[in-house]
Amino acid sequence: TKAHIAAVEAARSLNAFVLETPEHALDQAAASDARIARGEAGPLEGIPLGVKDLFATKGVRTTACSKILGNFVPSYESTVTSQLWRDGAVMLGKLNNDEFAMGSSNETSAFGPVVNPWRREGSNLQLVPGGSSGGSAAAVAARLCLGATATDTGGSIRQPAAFTGTVGIKPTYGRCSRWGTVAFASSLDQAGPIAKTVRDCAVLLTSMSGHDPKDSTSANVRVPDFAAAVARGVKGLKIGIPKEYRVEGMPAEIADLWQAGQDWLKSEGATIVDITLPHTKYALPAYYIVAPAEASSNLARYDGVRYGLRVPGQNIVEMYEKTRAAGFGPEVRRRIMIGTYVLSAGYYDAYYLRAQKIRTLIKRDFETVFQAGVDAILTPATPSAAFGLAEMQTASPVEMYLNDVFTVTVNMAGLPGIAVPAGKDGQGLPLGLQLIGRPFDEETLFAAGQVIE
Ligand code: GLN
Repeated sequence: TKAHIAAVEAARSLNAFVLETPEHALDQAAASDARIARGEAGPLEGIPLGVKDLFATKGVRTTACSKILGNFVPSYESTVTSQLWRDGAVMLGKLNNDEFAMGSSNETSAFGPVVNPWRREGSNLQLVPGGSSGGSAAAVAARLCLGATATDTGGSIRQPAAFTGTVGIKPTYGRCSRWGTVAFASSLDQAGPIAKTVRDCAVLLTSMSGHDPKDSTSANVRVPDFAAAVARGVKGLKIGIPKEYRVEGMPAEIADLWQAGQDWLKSEGATIVDITLPHTKYALPAYYIVAPAEASSNLARYDGVRYGLRVPGQNIVEMYEKTRAAGFGPEVRRRIMIGTYVLSAGYYDAYYLRAQKIRTLIKRDFETVFQAGVDAILTPATPSAAFGLAEMQTASPVEMYLNDVFTVTVNMAGLPGIAVPAGKDGQGLPLGLQLIGRPFDEETLFAAGQVIE
């Protein structure tokens, strides 16, 4: 813990942590030592972790990296983090993320962007770590912590993992409790770990998972020991390759890596089959209706009365308006406006209801493939390697949204997906592959992910 506290301090230029909690960490580490001395060590005893600032931590400032939460200090602990502390883990601090987890580059954070510890060969240009869990991915990649909590609504665990050469898994919807996690789009949000290896992710996910009566969408299913699945291998598994993911303009190095992934799985005894997921092309537009719709509703609670920031006004309406105008950044405001529009009386059927129907079709595509005996699906994790800080600022928001093209389908269908580092691009930057599994079959993803890693 002491070594990691020092590493965090030495790497402040990355801006990965928005709050360091060294005293808290040392207290937890001392308690760990005492439990180890008594022979009562838990599965994560003494392991120093970072926590995305979207998880409520009791007595420790939690902001979702938004000005509107100000200096909000929760009086409660999220279920996921409380399970990590139950198992002996240690909290080093709170990690940077895109404001309310809306973004793909960690540049929408009220605390400023995170710097990816990776650089292109021969270049000093600073790169984004991806988002929204950019602080989690950068902290793990720079070895500031042994693992981190993260959340994924449309790719926010898998895309930053791919951009930083780390492993990230978004479990099946309902696997991890959402209680105490700041809500973005409740029907898509899932917590999960980012860590250095597939095995570390498996160990962390075992601890983070489990039924929670405080989250009505939490699934009451058995939690396997995920680490036991890591060495299972892929012999006899059927791996699907969806033709719709071969998008136009895919860089050759990503297409090559995708092929290499197929070859590795095949040489370990898996069968590779071509599959079709015909509604894939509608996933991104439908996601950018469903997610903002739910966000606009979830964010209605930030009114200057209950939490954080309050900007006074002549009357209550003016107070609301001034508080929300000052508290939300531009990307969050954009989402609130899109969401409010698609949910409004005249447009609900044309946009929101349509997007929900498309969501069902996307889910059915996957069900058909899994019913035909496919065990997991292999795709690239992202359409590119990490891009430069501020590089996308001149682009339209839609170009940023294209980062999610391979990841959002998984959230729309509620399935588990893992991103595993699989190679490098021509400039030495990490590239990741994604494996998508059947509901509650994260074990197959760990087994296949280990073969690729
Ligand atoms: N980049 C996507 C978005 O901005 C996904 C974010 C996430 O998964 N939290 O909505």
